[in-house]
Amino acid sequence: MKRLIIVSNRLPITVARGKKDSPLEFRSSIGGLSTGLSSFYRSYNALWIGWPGIAVDRLKEKDKDNIVERLSRDGCYPVFLTQREVDNYYHGFCNNVLWPLFHYFPSYVVNKNVFWETYKSVNQKFADTVAEFTDKNNTVWVHDYQLMLLPDMLRKRLEDARIGFFLHIPFPSYEIFRMLPYRKEILKGILGANLIGFHTYDYVRYFLESVRRILGIDSNLGYIYDKKHIIKADIFPIGINFEKFSVESTEIENETENVRNRIGDIKVILSVDRLDYTKGIIQKLQAFDRFLDRNPKYIGKVAMVIIVVPSRTNIGHYRALKNEIDELIGNINGKRSTFKWSPIHYLYRSLPFERLLALYRISDIALITPLRDGMNLVAKEFLASKRDGRGVLILSEMAGAAQELGEAVIVNPNDTNEIVDALEIALNMQEKEQVKRNRTMIGRLRRYDIIKWAVDFMGALDEVEKLQERLFMRLLNLNIKRKIIESYRKSNNRVLILDYDGTLVNFSSSPEEARPDRELLEILEKLSSDKRNSVVIISGRSKDTLSEWFDNLNIGIIAEHGAWIKCVGRDWQTIEPLTSEWKSVIKPILELYEDRTPGSFIEEKEFSLVWHYRRADSKLAALRAMELKNTLLEYVTNLGLEVMDGNKILEVKDAGVDKGRAALKWLANIDTNFVLAIGDDYTDENVFEALPESAYTIKVGLGFSKAKYNVISVEDVRSLLKELISGRVTE
Ligand code: UDP
Repeated sequence: MKRLIIVSNRLPITVARGKKDSPLEFRSSIGGLSTGLSSFYRSYNALWIGWPGIAVDRLKEKDKDNIVERLSRDGCYPVFLTQREVDNYYHGFCNNVLWPLFHYFPSYVVNKNVFWETYKSVNQKFADTVAEFTDKNNTVWVHDYQLMLLPDMLRKRLEDARIGFFLHIPFPSYEIFRMLPYRKEILKGILGANLIGFHTYDYVRYFLESVRRILGIDSNLGYIYDKKHIIKADIFPIGINFEKFSVESTEIENETENVRNRIGDIKVILSVDRLDYTKGIIQKLQAFDRFLDRNPKYIGKVAMVIIVVPSRTNIGHYRALKNEIDELIGNINGKRSTFKWSPIHYLYRSLPFERLLALYRISDIALITPLRDGMNLVAKEFLASKRDGRGVLILSEMAGAAQELGEAVIVNPNDTNEIVDALEIALNMQEKEQVKRNRTMIGRLRRYDIIKWAVDFMGALDEVEKLQERLFMRLLNLNIKRKIIESYRKSNNRVLILDYDGTLVNFSSSPEEARPDRELLEILEKLSSDKRNSVVIISGRSKDTLSEWFDNLNIGIIAEHGAWIKCVGRDWQTIEPLTSEWKSVIKPILELYEDRTPGSFIEEKEFSLVWHYRRADSKLAALRAMELKNTLLEYVTNLGLEVMDGNKILEVKDAGVDKGRAALKWLANIDTNFVLAIGDDYTDENVFEALPESAYTIKVGLGFSKAKYNVISVEDVRSLLKELISGRVTE
């Protein structure tokens, strides 16, 4: 049966126990994900796997049975963790290493080896539990930074499983992420998923850049073609349970009136945050203080209601922050309060839902200024609560939510004056303007609510799977191989057109590694010694290099993407009359870019010039490559040239030269009834396109192509060639 398995650190139900041996209590967990997803997971026949919030050390066997039984009624299953595991994995690695680093507080990182070791073993524990419930029909959706190793651990056990991963916090820029000692393991862990979701485009970009620079794996439009599966990274900004916050009920109305009466007839600026150094609480209090300095007319007329929800107080930075907040609020209130008025109403606790909603409703302004925040749901909830559309949201540009809520008053949370300006703008904003701005944002929040978000993610996972299936259907299977071998066997005049880099050898930037190895030379030797075969290597490499490598063999060579051709036992000749006079115009341009991009270099072939940037800093090189391409395009058309945008290269060559034409030229003199062409990149697509329909064409690597079939690797190509030689398919 198709089933969805949601995996997160915490379950939507928390198990608690007061004193030793007192009965267990089962409560709904606080937090956007569990409340938001609860209706979704029920409708999806999902199973939710996670930690129930109590250390197993505090449980007897019968308590555990009781928990399993009670949770199963709500579609949940527990992963039991010991207190030591909770300390080292959750408080340790998650909250002392990943949380500060991913939120750009590297100096707050406290790293210990035991944290990482426990993070790994707890992720493994989750993997063991999930694997018990999963087969290839199931979809597993893993959530958040606590479980970043889990996707790959699952992939290793369940090769065909559909795995999604969503990161709820920011993914930091490469410069920050690279500081993590376990960066490779973390990236590989996440890449076990088929679909990887983030809140914003920037997080996707940073993730893919880290994958490229740390693991050397490239992506194309968010897709990574791994050997065995396709991975997509994409944006899914999480929504809220819109209806819950826009609800109309007597109970809520009464509560709203009650709160309004208590606060009195003044303008309310609302601030709601978990206690966390990422939330910019100190900075916003300082800004409010400065605002009152600059605007004495608001004394007695405006108050800030600040809710701080206790969190992670076992960590020193959180305790210190709490003290700092208490002190600052004390100072501001102390110096500014009158008998009738206090500038700040401070609550250090979590509020029940009705009270929170009432506060959203009566507030004129929400001041939400995190220094860094994956999304920030409070901003969205505040807007959703505004049934009449009035109210102003002041929102930090560092919150993921700012990407969607562009009509808010957006501020830099580090700029006190900008926050003060924003408060002035908000207090003076006409109601008509408030409603106009909010309507647009509210409409968006209504449409893209949490259910839509989850359904969207599931839909995208389906799409990745379908794409993968379509690509896998193109893979060379045993039957097709048998067919190829059979027609090869029957033919007395066969042509084999083989690309070199990425097809016969793995792509390498070092010339030594790129040399043909013994196994390959043996294969080519055997193929070419059969008189019925005409083997030709077709490559972008220079004729000198190819001559050095292959002159001893009985094979043809096509060099420089088809500019040069060398039949067995003959000299090199150009395919058509070519000139290289244009080089004097183009080379100085390339040299300029060589100088401006350290690590890049120019390769001069007889009829082409290549700018290589594989060894340069990838970000700079990508920028320069774009610039250079634009510059070159201005010249090439008039000179009858073409710019090819290859694998970390830009190549300028005669527009009339391509591998397809060269392949046809090769075939023109041979009366053949068996053609096999294998290649891996876009230059080989010209060959696939040019060849007659009867040819067997094969692309190396997953991905769509004009070739009829795909194989995954260079090793697959070599196996096929060996099978042609032996006449037998290895099963
Ligand atoms: N929240 C709550 N009780 C409170 C204050 C806040 O349940 O007294 C909820 C709020 O409704 C929101 C969540 O806590 O859904 C905070 O999510 P957000 O994304 O803003 O910040 P996070 O705490 O996840 O960093």
